[in-house]
Amino acid sequence: MKINLNGDGTLKLAIQRSGRLTDNTLGLLRSISLDFESYGQRLFSRCRNFPLSILYVRDDDIPEYVGLGTVDLGIVGRNLLHEEGVPVVELEPLGFGVCSLVVAVPKDSNYQTPQDLASATIATSYPRSTREFFAGLGLAPEIVTISGSVEVAPTIGLADAIVDLTSTGSSLILNDLRPLVTVLDSEAVLVANPAALQDEMKRAEIERLLLRIRAVQAARRFKYLMMNAPVAALDDIKAVVPGLKSPTIIPLDMPGWVAVHTAIEEEVFWESIEGCGPPARPKSSSPHSTSCCSDSCPLVLIAAVG
Ligand code: ATP
Ligand code: ZN
Repeated sequence: MKINLNGDGTLKLAIQRSGRLTDNTLGLLRSISLDFESYGQRLFSRCRNFPLSILYVRDDDIPEYVGLGTVDLGIVGRNLLHEEGVPVVELEPLGFGVCSLVVAVPKDSNYQTPQDLASATIATSYPRSTREFFAGLGLAPEIVTISGSVEVAPTIGLADAIVDLTSTGSSLILNDLRPLVTVLDSEAVLVANPAALQDEMKRAEIERLLLRIRAVQAARRFKYLMMNAPVAALDDIKAVVPGLKSPTIIPLDMPGWVAVHTAIEEEVFWESIEGCGPPARPKSSSPHSTSCCSDSCPLVLIAAVG
């Protein structure tokens, strides 16, 4: 099936069709209000409310598609961009698909440093990154390229060590391996074809997309905090919640009480609540209302929505 999207004036974005990046990528695109269908075995879809077509492909093909200009944009792991070495422009790290490309060795082996692997055999799906990493140390171990199940290579006697992706490390542990050194830290990134960025019309649409993505990313770091509090407690509250610099304060229909609304960084939010004492059970009178440590605490949270 040939999909000819050239010349229809829309931007083209390649994303992983089915894999570790797919859910988060679709979630990101929907969070910036793009309206498109993505069910089943679709190869591409057009957004109804933005001049963008989405192509669903294998992640391995995305760097090349973007590099060649088959598509204008791609969402792909930095690990693959590094491996393919194609000339694309990284526009934005996306904060998901976080993993590392690591050198790992059998748990009980004597290998302690990369130098110990100078004459070892290393199995990997990332031959270029592996070669480059060891070359940077002045080393040239033998590299065996395999396309899957890299982590079993030492067990079956194919290699002495591996270079593979890991996020939690659990698959290394499961295969009696331990990480020795990190080759590359990776996450999903939005990339663009350099020529697309030179095209005035495309660039304008790419910038619109980027603006939305950055806004959503920034908003994700914050929680919107709403609380009712006695006016007399405002100074105490500011001391407990350091992010609370200039909140919106609205008088309540209750003398001496105000509603305090503000956006604070998520981490600060949780630290503030945790720092306040053990949480109490939600008050039965209001399902969304909970006092953070006791009924006398000035921090009476009405809601904290993401
Ligand atoms: P495809 O069928 O599209 O070729 P794949 O099986 O090659 O998919 P996935 O396993 O879905 O690829 O991984 C996609 C990307 O997810 C990786 O390139 C990497 O950027 C990221 N990733 C995050 N954590 C991990 C992990 N623990 N192992 C492998 N990849 C990870
Ligand atoms: Zn792949």
